[in-house]
Amino acid sequence: MSGVLFVISGPSGVGKGTLVKILIEKIPSLALSISATTRKPRIGDADGVTYFFMTKEDFEQKISQGAFLEYANVHGNYYGTLQSTVDDLLDEYAGVILEIDVQGGHLAKLHYKDAVTIFIDAPSEEEIKNRLIGRGSDVEENFELRLANAQKERESAKDYDFHLINDDLNECANNLIKVIKSYIQ
Ligand code: ADP
Ligand code: 5GP
Repeated sequence: MSGVLFVISGPSGVGKGTLVKILIEKIPSLALSISATTRKPRIGDADGVTYFFMTKEDFEQKISQGAFLEYANVHGNYYGTLQSTVDDLLDEYAGVILEIDVQGGHLAKLHYKDAVTIFIDAPSEEEIKNRLIGRGSDVEENFELRLANAQKERESAKDYDFHLINDDLNECANNLIKVIKSYIQ
C-alpha cells in the first residue's frame, strides 16, 4: 500500500462526478474507487463502472461481514466503499479517489490519517438546483432531500483540507489537478 488517498465530497449536483472523470483522464496514475450502493441506476450508470448496484439485503450482509471501509445512508440509500477495492487500488496507483459524502469522508480520515480531503461547492444554491434539474434527477432520487442536505454537508466539511468552488468547470478541474499533483507525480 503506497498510494495517497483523496476524499472528494460536496453537495449533490455540484459536479463531483464530472470533475472526477476529467481528473482520471488527465492523471493516469490516479484511480477512482467504485462504491457500492442500493440506489437505482440512472441513465448513464453501469454496474461495476459507476457503482456496484446492490439490493439492501446484499448491502447489509456486506456490512455484517465487515467488508466496508466506510458506509453511510445518503439521501435515503446506502452507499459504501469496499475495503478490498481500496486496498487493491492503493497497491497499484499513486493516488486513489473516494468520491463520497461527508459522513464517509470523516470515517475514511479516521482510518487513513494522511488522506487528503477536498470539498467541492457550487457558486450558489440556485446553480445546484439548475444542475440537478439539468441532470434529469427525478422524484425517486429524492431531489428535495438532496437540496436540503447541501447545507448540512457544508457545515460538517469545515475540517476538510481544501475547499473549491466549481463555477467554471475547466478552471475548477485545473485547480483540482494542481492540488492532486502537489501530492503525487
Ligand atoms: P455530482 O456528481 O456532484 O452529483 P455531476 O457531476 O453529476 O454532480 O453534475 C451535475 C450536473 O451539473 C451535470 O449535468 C453536469 O454536466 C453539470 N455540471 C458539472 N459541472 C458544471 C459546471 N462547472 N458548470 C455547469 N454545469 C456543470
Ligand atoms: P449519487 O446518487 O448522486 O451518485 O451520489 C449521492 C451521494 O453519495 C454523493 O454525495 C456521493 O459522494 C455519495 N457517495 C457515493 N459513493 C459513496 C460511498 O461509497 N460512501 C459514501 N459515504 N458516500 C458515497
